Amino acid sequence: MAIVRYNQYDLRKHNTFGMDVKAEQFITYDTVDELIAVLAEIRQNGKPILHIGGGSNLLFTKNFEGVVLHSNIKFIEYNIQDGEELKVRVGSGIVWDDFCAEMARKNYYGSENLSYIPGEVGASAVQNIGAYGVEVGSIIQEVETVEIATGCQRVFQAKDCAYGYRDSVFKNRLLGKYIVTAVVFRLSTVPKVHLDYGQLKELREQNIVPSAQMIRDAVITIRKSKLPEPEELGSAGSFFKNPVVPKVVYEDIAQAYSNVPHYIVDEENVKIPAAWLIEQCGWKGKTHGGAAVYEKQPLILVNKNQATPTDIIELADLVQQSVFEKFHIHIYPEVNYI
Ligand SMILES: Cc1cc2nc3c(=O)[nH]c(=O)nc-3n(C[C@H](O)[C@H](O)[C@H](O)COP(=O)(O)OP(=O)(O)OC[C@H]3O[C@@H](n4cnc5c(N)ncnc54)[C@H](O)[C@@H]3O)c2cc1C
Repeated sequence: MAIVRYNQYDLRKHNTFGMDVKAEQFITYDTVDELIAVLAEIRQNGKPILHIGGGSNLLFTKNFEGVVLHSNIKFIEYNIQDGEELKVRVGSGIVWDDFCAEMARKNYYGSENLSYIPGEVGASAVQNIGAYGVEVGSIIQEVETVEIATGCQRVFQAKDCAYGYRDSVFKNRLLGKYIVTAVVFRLSTVPKVHLDYGQLKELREQNIVPSAQMIRDAVITIRKSKLPEPEELGSAGSFFKNPVVPKVVYEDIAQAYSNVPHYIVDEENVKIPAAWLIEQCGWKGKTHGGAAVYEKQPLILVNKNQATPTDIIELADLVQQSVFEKFHIHIYPEVNYI
């Protein structure tokens, strides 16, 4: 167990966009006590702090003049089983998909639709990651944290995390105030499947109860066919959030485009896929400097050829502008600009 410190640290391997930036200091820790000690130290020198996981939802816009922290708290602990429900407590530094793989191997249901999402367990609870009709907030029981300002430990119940679409209290009211050290998940020992989304419907049509591993395998196959592998092509996944618009705005668009895909959110609001809006503006596959709109999925901006942060920022601005000009809809980045 140890705290490890690096100065002028190269962050290229810590952000899936592959931005060539440095951190003034980079510190890793293995335990909650070590984190509390590091925070006390940083408080004395007053440097800005950024906690990262796998760097798969970040856009570093420049070098980070401060301390970048990274958790190596790694454990998976099986707690009380209550009927069909099992509580699993997981350290923040565990790679998210390693956790999903382990749960699928044991045939515990809950995380399988979220398989193969890059990143680490700590960030999953901040980001409320979601895919194929499931959001992680729906399987979270508790989030264990340390407050940056005081070093005090605090446990948030899921209901206090304000989970919404790619959103949580840690991204809003308490942004930059707490570091997640562990997450307690509620999994099911009996099948609880979500197969209503996209190509997963094919599994449902087979008229069998699929194992968690079968669902995980199907999700991975679909994802591999659609999404760029970060090691091969830098990206941060979906760059923009899908906009939720008033029904009248959707109806206006539908008059001109009868095929506009949409999901009813409630009586007054409709969600329109940002990918569709971007594609209609002709951006699919287009490049700007070293950055590009991914040709298989226009919601993703990629580092095609040694893109600089400016290339990505300018491309994102251009895409946002043209969606607004054509549809009068603002689309906003899901990615965290640092
Ligand atoms: C190819 C690709 C596909 C993707 N697909 C999806 C998808 O299907 N669904 C989806 O929801 N996302 C997706 N993403 C986005 C990304 O994987 C998630 O947002 C993920 O949760 C980020 O995890 P991370 O560990 O890399 O966090 P980072 O990018 O390092 O950090 C994200 C945010 O969390 C904060 N943070 C990180 N760790 C902690 C901690 N321990 N305590 C407090 N704050 C912390 C950071 O400060 C930052 O604000 C995809 C990304 C890529 C590259």
